[in-house]
Amino acid sequence: MTAFTQRSQLCHHSDTYLHSWTSGVRVTSAPTLEVPDSLWKAETSVQSVGPTDARRCVSRPQADLQLGLTQEEVRRRRAYHGWNEFDISEDEPLWRKYLSQFKDPLILLLLASAVISIIMHQFDDAISITVVAVVLSCVQEYRSEKSLEELGKLVPPECHCVREGNLEHLLARELVPGDTVCLSVGEKVPADLRLFEATDLSVDESSLTGETTPCTKSTAHQPASTNGDIASRSNIAFMGTLVRYGKAKGIVIGTGENSEFGEVFKMMQAEEAPKTPLQKSMDLLGKQLSLYSFCIIGVIMLVGWLQGKSLLDMFTIGVSLAVAAIPEGLPIVVTVTLALGVMRMVKKRAIIKKLPIVETLGCCNVICSDKTGTLTKNEMTVTQLFTSDGQHAEVTGVGYNGQGEVLLNGEVIHGFSCQSISKIVEVGCVCNDSIIRNHNVLGRPTEGALIALAMKVGLEGLQREYVRVEEHPFSSEKKWMAVRCDKAGVYFMKGAYEQVIRFCSSYNSRGSALPLNHQQVELYQQQISYMGSGGLRVLAFASGSEMGKLTFLGLVGIIDPPRSGVKEAVGTLISSGVTIKMITGDSQETAMSIGQLIHTRLRKCINGVAVTDGVPGSALCPQISVFYRASPRHKLKIVKSLQNNGAVVAMTGDGVNDAVALKAADIGVAMGQTGTDVCKEAADMILVDDDFQTIMSAIEEGKGIYNNIKNFVCFQLSTSIAALTLISLATLMNFPNPLNAMQILWINIIMDGPPAQSLGVEPVDRDIIRKPPRNVGDSIITRSLIVKVLVSAFIIVCGTLYVFWREDNVITPRDTTMTFTCFVFFDMFNALSSRSQTRMVHEMGLCSNRTFCFAVLASIMGQLLVIYFPPLQSVFQTESLSVLDLVFLVSLTSSVCAVSEVIKKVERWRGVEKSPPSDFFHEV
Ligand code: ATP
Repeated sequence: MTAFTQRSQLCHHSDTYLHSWTSGVRVTSAPTLEVPDSLWKAETSVQSVGPTDARRCVSRPQADLQLGLTQEEVRRRRAYHGWNEFDISEDEPLWRKYLSQFKDPLILLLLASAVISIIMHQFDDAISITVVAVVLSCVQEYRSEKSLEELGKLVPPECHCVREGNLEHLLARELVPGDTVCLSVGEKVPADLRLFEATDLSVDESSLTGETTPCTKSTAHQPASTNGDIASRSNIAFMGTLVRYGKAKGIVIGTGENSEFGEVFKMMQAEEAPKTPLQKSMDLLGKQLSLYSFCIIGVIMLVGWLQGKSLLDMFTIGVSLAVAAIPEGLPIVVTVTLALGVMRMVKKRAIIKKLPIVETLGCCNVICSDKTGTLTKNEMTVTQLFTSDGQHAEVTGVGYNGQGEVLLNGEVIHGFSCQSISKIVEVGCVCNDSIIRNHNVLGRPTEGALIALAMKVGLEGLQREYVRVEEHPFSSEKKWMAVRCDKAGVYFMKGAYEQVIRFCSSYNSRGSALPLNHQQVELYQQQISYMGSGGLRVLAFASGSEMGKLTFLGLVGIIDPPRSGVKEAVGTLISSGVTIKMITGDSQETAMSIGQLIHTRLRKCINGVAVTDGVPGSALCPQISVFYRASPRHKLKIVKSLQNNGAVVAMTGDGVNDAVALKAADIGVAMGQTGTDVCKEAADMILVDDDFQTIMSAIEEGKGIYNNIKNFVCFQLSTSIAALTLISLATLMNFPNPLNAMQILWINIIMDGPPAQSLGVEPVDRDIIRKPPRNVGDSIITRSLIVKVLVSAFIIVCGTLYVFWREDNVITPRDTTMTFTCFVFFDMFNALSSRSQTRMVHEMGLCSNRTFCFAVLASIMGQLLVIYFPPLQSVFQTESLSVLDLVFLVSLTSSVCAVSEVIKKVERWRGVEKSPPSDFFHEV
């Protein structure tokens, strides 16, 4: 029995008992876990499982809901159930891939050529054609698939799990059946979970059922269902589904292939990844070229036959032409170049989830970026405090720790020494879902800053003293959060000033609640403008026993400085014609102040609310650079409005509700650190460190990859056309064949092989980021490219024919050696100039692409062996050439490079490659 089947059986066994366990449970009481109390103690609207059934719940999988599993138990279970992942080791082996290549029409064609060679008793050719062509394509295809497979492993899912009484942040693969998992908004369910605690939980199961409306989950008992309908099992959260709302705790009942998702995963593996537009157009180009080549080959064979040449001879020519002219490497190089480029992007901290995005990156002309965390550091520190009775305090110290002081008129505030201040600190601390551990925030940085503030006045212990009985969680849509706690029965609220003040009827004046009046409101507005214009994020605080009649307590100002390097990145992008738009939930003053720090052109601003359909705001989007008080639903409208104006939009996002906008954007960018799983799922690209500069690096890389593919196409097309024309002309002019089949094969290896491949890894031109974005509709085959291809092919053909001609009329091995070497050298110089369509060789540096240097050196060494090494001489029918011959050939063949360089110079002079950056999306 293999390990795999053994495990399946074990899993099956465990499934049976887990199934009976899952279907017989009613509701039990929520165990208290050693996790941030505020997170899990809420009782209101929490459905929990009753004590009796909880015991049953726990006894089957022998787990402890309160403490979770012990490390020892985890190890034991892992040995039994394996890791919570999918076994992808059952990969298609190389030999099967090798065989699958035979379905490719081009490979079939080459094989047909080989068969013809066998018929003609040219066994050498037959073997070479088969082995070289098939092995080369197969290995390349395998390599590309390997690299693509790696992409899938770049974003390992994570989860929160309780083990030995502690809340741990783990990789989802480490889960075992019986583990207690905590779920919250935006997370991906890491394994099949039987829920035993759920607060307003609603889960998006579209990955399993295709149903896009999120379904409500509860802990309620379910009668044993026989139809296996996933949607009806509402007390189970399935692996791979996404938490859209609420939070929950559950116990793992199925991991890896033993989960419901395991089935879907197997189906997904069977699906082939869709090809990118570039891959598709290269496939088409390859097919078209093959068709043209065949027509030409047909005509040549017919002409030759009419000229009275033997049919067998014409077959030989046909085979050689088929081998030389069919660019079978074209689609493969595109895939390999894309995949390698994507791996390079990972090093620059950008994870590309969908290959077509690599192409889109170079077309992106508008970037809509979040402010907090992307343009700024997301390292929040409270620096100012303003109490509702008009006192102004300064806060010192930075970071998530208690180092620093709150100073009121030079006096240090500690504990409850100033009621007005400590009330604000208390609300900030209690109405808070985050904790600070080892100077790091687990939760939201804004809330981390409030806990650090509490630590500075010695009130951080308050967080543990209160048990929540009701909560209104924070969302970017609402922009406020409130909790009610059992101790005092009062509400504590914090949030954006405009939101909080709506719930207030009084303000705190040295301990007593006075009715709010116009004067006070004016005073607070002034303070907000003052703090905001200093770039501070402003939060308002209130408390009271009734939600509409709260007492306003005051404001805090939180600093979050711009990331270093962002200013330069924004400047570079703007100068290249990319427009930057900042979208933030913060107030106008804060947004503008940070906007100005980042770039002076970020001037024109609008309230997110104004961006609604039918309102002129939507049409204005192209000219606005800062959207303040914006919420996720505005993002979608902004994207749509920009797209309607012809923009290719990259949009960043982190929250659950950003997912729609990310999907709608041409490039959806999710935050790797602060982003929710929902948002990462919807995105095309993930910024590992949330840094705006990474978007710039990705655009740079995207443009570079596209250019490299263009260079490769230019090289391959010119060689293909040259080889085809050379042999066609020789036939039509009734010359003997200038190259024999083995020589043509060798040229083909160079054309599709290492030198050509190495063009795909050409380092990105540092100036490329300054080039304007490409037009989406632009084809890779531009007029300028066609001119270069035809000119190079023309020079190669003329030069080779000249060498062939210049020798005497009788065809000797020396003549073919000279012609053959001439073509190979032409190819090398052609590859050298194809390294860039715009830069001269000396600008790029001769050795800047080391892979290319090695590939060319290896090809030259190979060519010399073919000329001077006796056993190869007999295979290739060559003979030794003199040094003078070589010098002559090098001088002649370098002309192709020289002419290309002249064309580049002329183009640069005429400004062909330059189009002025569009100013349309900038402010007017
Ligand atoms: P950005 O787009 O700059 O990244 P954002 O859109 O994520 O920011 P939010 O986090 O939604 O902005 O914050 C919007 C406003 O909501 C803030 O200005 C602040 O007043 C308030 N706010 C932020 N965080 C909290 C929180 N944890 N609790 C209550 N109110 C908050």
